[in-house]
Amino acid sequence: MSIADNLEKIKRNIPEKVTLVAVSKTKPLSAIIEAYGAGQRIFGENKIQEMVEKQIQLPDDIQWHMIGHLQRNKVKHMASFVSLIHGVDSIKTLKEINKQAKKNDRVIDCLLQVKIAIEDTKFGLSGIQIATILNSPEIKEFKNIKITGLMGMASFTEDKKQVKKEFNKLKILFDKLEISHKQLKIISMGMSGDFKLAIEEGSTMIRVGSSIFGSRN
Ligand SMILES: *Cc1c(COP(=O)(O)O)cnc(C)c1O
Repeated sequence: MSIADNLEKIKRNIPEKVTLVAVSKTKPLSAIIEAYGAGQRIFGENKIQEMVEKQIQLPDDIQWHMIGHLQRNKVKHMASFVSLIHGVDSIKTLKEINKQAKKNDRVIDCLLQVKIAIEDTKFGLSGIQIATILNSPEIKEFKNIKITGLMGMASFTEDKKQVKKEFNKLKILFDKLEISHKQLKIISMGMSGDFKLAIEEGSTMIRVGSSIFGSRN
């Protein structure tokens, strides 16, 4: 199946209110152009350098999402164009994003990454740490960022019950925080292997790579 076919199949299977981020990391420009031709406008990358190189060569109406772990010293390279940063996990990083956004006279939307997986390899914050960040006086001074939601990655396992439990944990945390933090709108969870489950558990944004572009080396 072609990239366009894959996109169409996924879109047919998700509710309209769920946003599809096409994860194009490691894939060539030609693959992104094909997806763009099929109407896709939101792409996700996990390395700043790679995203910047692609961004300068591709149409301006693409919305670029950074989905990987951030290196603070590289935030400046994407601050002029990045549309959403998914994996923020510290006030220090928010401070740097705010600084670079300000230089570009922009407000950059960010999601805080929650640790929902049992694996130690996946980074992210606890519910308490997230609440602490959202309530911190320092954050209120950051006028050039907006925390618009939460992001999580489930464990890499065949155990559907476990994955469901982890997504549910993120949804419950979101619902709790959303009461007093009305700017929270987005729950970014679900990838190629688990996005259906993620949507059942309340995801509003899925990040899908291999099911669109084929497997990565
Ligand atoms: C690579 C990646 C994805 C997409 O993974 P697929 O299994 O190829 O769909 C989603 N989210 C993050 C954070 C990633 O790094």
